[in-house]
Amino acid sequence: MDLFEYQARDMFEASGVPVLRGLVATTPEEAESAAARLGTPVVVVKAQVKTGGRGKAGGVKLARSPQEAAARAADILGMDIKGHTVRQVMVAEGAEIADEYYFSLLLDRTTGKYLAMCSVEGGMDIETLAVERPDALVRFPIDPNAGLDAVAAAEIVAQAGFAEADRDAVASVLVRLGEVYRDNDATLVEVNPLVKTADGRIIALDGKVTLDGNAEFRHPEWAQYRDEASEDPLEVRAKALDLNYVKLDGSVGIIGNGAGLVMSTLDVVAAAGADLPGSPRPANFLDIGGGASAQVMANGLEIILSDPQVRVVFVNVFGGITACSEVAKGIIDALGMLGEKATKPIVVRLDGNAVKIGRHMLTEAAHPLVELADTMDAAARRAAELAAE
Ligand code: GDP
Ligand code: MN
Repeated sequence: MDLFEYQARDMFEASGVPVLRGLVATTPEEAESAAARLGTPVVVVKAQVKTGGRGKAGGVKLARSPQEAAARAADILGMDIKGHTVRQVMVAEGAEIADEYYFSLLLDRTTGKYLAMCSVEGGMDIETLAVERPDALVRFPIDPNAGLDAVAAAEIVAQAGFAEADRDAVASVLVRLGEVYRDNDATLVEVNPLVKTADGRIIALDGKVTLDGNAEFRHPEWAQYRDEASEDPLEVRAKALDLNYVKLDGSVGIIGNGAGLVMSTLDVVAAAGADLPGSPRPANFLDIGGGASAQVMANGLEIILSDPQVRVVFVNVFGGITACSEVAKGIIDALGMLGEKATKPIVVRLDGNAVKIGRHMLTEAAHPLVELADTMDAAARRAAELAAE
């Protein structure tokens, strides 16, 4: 789960990371009074969107009076930045920047460690820096058991080439950022730029934080970060129905039982569609789990069928604890519950426990939208064909 910059700012402040004051505004009038409350000669009006490169896109503007802050907020609110509509701005104290640095701490899944990255050349796009000036970017692995301690921080600032006089101050900010990362179960904390101001203070001027969704259960305070406006509406509905659903961008809806089976179904469908016109691909991941009832099947089908990109649904079930007869009943009952809402062909592959009974039930029911396939490959091919037509 990604945070808005203002939420990262508040989180930094709570952990003692130096930040500048900032207030959120959703209208030019609110931006004007926020600037007046801050009372600094210069304020910065910053688009709050969960994507980088706001500055380049015109989403970060300086203002020298509350009236000017209102005008800049009027320019920025409603702007589209890489597909994200700006609905709020942060009005922040303006900093007089002497130097811009880069720092990030993230989860490195390949090494099973954390990775700290740091550069004295901040402000610019980090991907560009990593490609064009790789030597300017220090990559420092962190043992998760130790965390980003004072020893690691001192090593990072030395390797990055900070001036002697700045090292202690920067290192202590890095240690604090490590605490932000640890205490909030983050998978990313990025500060670009970390700045030195004209009066010599080290300040996190921008913040990007990603929280580990798997840790949500021990962070009741994360409820405040719920942001349905920037979530996929189908995923929001699926979550409300307690379904394990991820929206993808293809046209073949997928329902299966067990995450492993569903993942291999995605691969098989993508392979089957590769040579067909339009190369049909999976439209979603949906694991209805072990003991899927008719209601769960109906909920899953309803979500998938309401995705306008879906042209065909592939139900791929291996009967284990839940017998295929139960699954067949689930499909038939679900189609009964959905009635006219079921409008797209459904290719079903059943195998495993009680497969004969399950297949017999579906054949008997003879629903006009349902087609049975013998194998997973045959079903994937048929579903891809139907999506390609
Ligand atoms: P991003 O483009 O989304 O990364 O947005 P940032 O918050 O990092 O701002 C982009 C750039 O705007 C920074 O690298 C700074 O150069 C500049 N900027 C941001 N805040 C201030 C400020 O308070 N004063 C000054 N002078 N420049 C700022
Ligand atoms: Mn930035």
